[in-house]
Amino acid sequence: MLEVHDLTVRFGGITALDGVGFGVAGGEMVGLIGPNGAGKTTLFNCLTRRCTPQSGSITYEGRDLVAAAPHAIAGLGIARTFQNLGLFPRLSVRDNVLVGAHHRGRAGFFSAGLRLPGVRREERALRADADAVLERLGLAGVAAHPATGLPFGTLKRVELARALVARPRLLLLDEPVNGLNAAEVAEFAGTLESVRAEYGLTVVVVEHHMGFVMGICERIVCLDFGRKIAEGPPEEVQRDPAVIEAYLGTA
Ligand code: ATP
Repeated sequence: MLEVHDLTVRFGGITALDGVGFGVAGGEMVGLIGPNGAGKTTLFNCLTRRCTPQSGSITYEGRDLVAAAPHAIAGLGIARTFQNLGLFPRLSVRDNVLVGAHHRGRAGFFSAGLRLPGVRREERALRADADAVLERLGLAGVAAHPATGLPFGTLKRVELARALVARPRLLLLDEPVNGLNAAEVAEFAGTLESVRAEYGLTVVVVEHHMGFVMGICERIVCLDFGRKIAEGPPEEVQRDPAVIEAYLGTA
């Protein structure tokens, strides 16, 4: 589904990604790990066209993703969450989630007030979809609540709901359990496992929480200083001396 080949990104004198390559098959859950500054978010930024690599290629479902326009990414079935939550504090949980569906036709959140033919019907369908996702993630009770003031663990689930309502095939999660307590991490892992199957998702997850990422992913890619230093099943990568030295040994 996704092929990243020889990807290099430089910011002035800093090489954030240095010839990185890996593939992701449809339906897989792949963990992307590495110490701070390893290049994980830069890689996500390349996959979502927020960043243009100096060289290398990204092929997604047979398409050249580097050539895609940034605004086309959601329409191609790619959604992401962010390390620092990008929610609108004064909007309700439901409206925050609806923002994730804005590319799905004329009745997206921003055109909700227009009287175009069929828009009301589309808007109703999108709202029903958002409500179904909210229900599925246990957020129905706070749907009308402004995002501000809600517990952090709830906001992390709102962020996931916003990505899911975009109906992605490829879901990119950037540190989804960062800041959650042990019970919330376990709950998030269970939810992710089940929505992955229900929604037919392929998932790439960036995470520093080793218990979570090693427990939930079938395969791990480890970066260090912009280079891929290991790739394989969690049990192998955890034992890899290069990974232990670069990351686990200093965690
Ligand atoms: P963390 O785990 O701390 O989030 P990361 O693995 O996601 O780290 P990146 O955020 O991708 O790492 O950063 C990789 C390197 O590129 C770092 O040295 C960072 O300072 C640098 N970098 C990232 N974005 C930019 C930018 N827009 N301008 C300059 N340097 C950048």
